[in-house]
Amino acid sequence: MTVAEELSRTDWDDVRLALYSKSAADVMSALQRSVRHWQDFLALISPAAEGFLPDMAVKAQALTRQRFGHTVSLFVPLYLSNLCANECTYCGFTMSNKIKRTKLTMAEISEEVYAIKKMGFDSVLLVTGEHETKAGMDYFLEAIELVKAHFSHVAMEVQPLSTDEYRALAAAGTDSVLVYQETYHRAHYAEYHLRGKKQDFDWRLATPDRLGEAGMNKIGLGALLGLSEWRTDSAFTALHLSLLQQRYWKSRYSVAFPRIKPCAGDRATQKSQVSDKQLIQLICAYRLCFPEVELSLSTRESPAFRDNVVPLAINQLSAASQTQPGGYSAPTTALEQFSTEDTRSASAVANSLTARGLDPVWTDWLNAFGR
Ligand code: SF4
Repeated sequence: MTVAEELSRTDWDDVRLALYSKSAADVMSALQRSVRHWQDFLALISPAAEGFLPDMAVKAQALTRQRFGHTVSLFVPLYLSNLCANECTYCGFTMSNKIKRTKLTMAEISEEVYAIKKMGFDSVLLVTGEHETKAGMDYFLEAIELVKAHFSHVAMEVQPLSTDEYRALAAAGTDSVLVYQETYHRAHYAEYHLRGKKQDFDWRLATPDRLGEAGMNKIGLGALLGLSEWRTDSAFTALHLSLLQQRYWKSRYSVAFPRIKPCAGDRATQKSQVSDKQLIQLICAYRLCFPEVELSLSTRESPAFRDNVVPLAINQLSAASQTQPGGYSAPTTALEQFSTEDTRSASAVANSLTARGLDPVWTDWLNAFGR
């Protein structure tokens, strides 16, 4: 049975009930354990754990220093295309939005690379909408060849692909692939995804399995917090992560915590709100239960929130992000996927980390032994 099949057998209402039944005693025993499991994660994200946040933060910070030292890895997204053949009601790139569509040429990508390198980054995340006929494998392979020559770490966030296609991306130099399930609630997923291949919940759910089978070095997971009840969605994300770690143990994993942000033509109706305090609780719970997993925070969050939360448990941070193609060499907000809150420059973010005793690192890893 694949991880996706195992997840599909897990009932949303059962998980929600288990989570909301957790007591203060469950939280205390989760905090006392040295090795924590999924049931501990449920306790730590439950309402019963809200009063334990200071304890959680202290333990999470200690584990983060133990595993990652003071380092925080910086990366930047490079949007290659905003073409998309899907209708997602929460996204500015959704196909019915009347925005100017573009796909960067190789010359335009070179200009973006030049602008990004000037900021100091050695780690880049290539992002596209999901349009397999106009921005598919041929385009990705050409872009990776160009970009890989300039960055020691290249990650991708594009449409779900087949196992063989992921093998080809890895062989071409892709180090990580991020694929967010958005929500693990099937009925809600159908409400938000109205047209296109993304409507296929099961194809998306099985994507991390295909990445694991392809031997991708790092796999990124996450849910878009707010699309469904956030605690239960996070419980499913953590279960997904835990099962993948057991099955595809050679890969590294990262988790992100995007909260829904306004975008052009936004029609999403949020089903839950995640407060700042609740997001900190979630981040600490991940660190306590998954000490070795990389936790990433994007520029969706405000400078103040990022400055205060990063020292607790975050080890990976985007900075100076532009969320539209061509945004670094020719900045405009006309084509944005969503609005960002932390608009500081890369050097300002790095300086802020240094001021908090952290060590900004401009890459993810270095190829030292000819991998
Ligand atoms: S979320 Fe992704 S697939 Fe959906 S409209 Fe936006 S770019 Fe397209």
